[in-house]
Amino acid sequence: MNKKDAEKYVKAGKILRKAREKARKIAVPGKKMLDIANEIEQYIEKLGKEEGVVSKPAFPVNLSVNEEAAHRTPASNDEMVFEKNQVLKVDLGAHVDGFVGDCAFTVNPDNSQAKLVETSELALENALSVIKPGTEIGKIGEEIEKTIRGRGFNPVQNLSGHGLAPYLTHTPPTIPNIPNKDSREIEDGMVFAIEPFATDGKGFVRESGISEIFSIEEPKAVRNIHARKILEFALKEYKTLPFAERWIIEKFKLSDFQHKLAMRDLLRANIFRAYPILKEEEGMFVSQTETSVLVQDGNVKILV
Ligand code: MN
Ligand code: MN
Repeated sequence: MNKKDAEKYVKAGKILRKAREKARKIAVPGKKMLDIANEIEQYIEKLGKEEGVVSKPAFPVNLSVNEEAAHRTPASNDEMVFEKNQVLKVDLGAHVDGFVGDCAFTVNPDNSQAKLVETSELALENALSVIKPGTEIGKIGEEIEKTIRGRGFNPVQNLSGHGLAPYLTHTPPTIPNIPNKDSREIEDGMVFAIEPFATDGKGFVRESGISEIFSIEEPKAVRNIHARKILEFALKEYKTLPFAERWIIEKFKLSDFQHKLAMRDLLRANIFRAYPILKEEEGMFVSQTETSVLVQDGNVKILV
């Protein structure tokens, strides 16, 4: 990786670190989820201005609750309020010219699930302690699994950390929360996110029926004029990064009917892909802690 690219990752990470600090103050019980997401996303842009760069959310702020592990972001008319006994995963990303940082933390204001929350935090800490040039990638999941099971919980097996690349939030290598057979070694130039998920459930998430997050799968011709305009905008604004349906709704202000028709066409033609909410069994809880790292000159730099 050249120096300039590395600097952009570092910059995105610096912005995201500040955004995470602010997000901890923003995500308080009694507040509407929609306001929490909006405020964090706006703050990411504001921080860029302070740093003299253009910084944008790399994906919609995910605010997944209790058994939900990932991919809930508020709808445009969302009235859901953050309750103090909930286990809320706040997953946020920022990018500078497509160079992405990805991080997450879990909040549970009444501490009813404190041990679970601490478990994913500790799993990330322990994973970071084994990451150095020469470590086999498969060892990371081993450390995560050991930590989580050692505290009486299960790692979520079908959610993983991942590589990061310009305008891409999920590239190889896959870094599962259980050991895998990946014997490739960590080396200079790698950028990746590690994200342990701990649960009192079985450790498997499945897709729910709700999607509020989308990305462009394959741009192609579409007849519906509104669909065409939404696609043009998304291509220019988000490229291959995920975006929220509420961002599209706010931008175009179409009637509900026009908007739904346009989205239906884009999804049916596989121009857009949807990211359904991923969840454990009802009544279970999931916690998540995530950060992004860059390996450079033989050192592992924690970006966020
Ligand atoms: Mn994330
Ligand atoms: Mn991630």
